[in-house]
Amino acid sequence: MSEKSCLFCRIIAGEIPGDFAHQDERCVVLRDINPQAPMHMLVIPREHLESLDDASQKDEALLGHLLRVGARVANDQGQAEGGYRTVINNGEGAGQSVFHLHVHVLAGRQMNWPPG
Ligand code: 5GP
Ligand code: ZN
Repeated sequence: MSEKSCLFCRIIAGEIPGDFAHQDERCVVLRDINPQAPMHMLVIPREHLESLDDASQKDEALLGHLLRVGARVANDQGQAEGGYRTVINNGEGAGQSVFHLHVHVLAGRQMNWPPG
């Protein structure tokens, strides 16, 4: 999918509204439109990468940043003590539906294992 038609690129560009919890020079944190837990955030790099599989060695610092921002947001929302889960779905078979890399951060309820 091209960046022009990518949903998350369009939200980041301000063409489609989004409810942001954090923004910095490398990523944004968006409240999921269809939350699967009381807190459900999406940590999204500004740069368009289709998936985790698309990331290369040059993206290692960015991937670390996304995880650290997810942890910070969970802490800022008071969710660290109760536990939170970070998830990256890679590919349709794993449940990826938006092909712009993102980290889900979910919290506020008991999480089950294995995930569905
Ligand atoms: P995936 O299925 O690709 O791992 O995750 C995509 C996520 O994006 C889903 O949890 C879905 O609810 C969320 N999502 C889809 N469209 C929108 C939207 O327009 N706005 C926001 N904030 N989230 C969206
Ligand atoms: Zn994109």
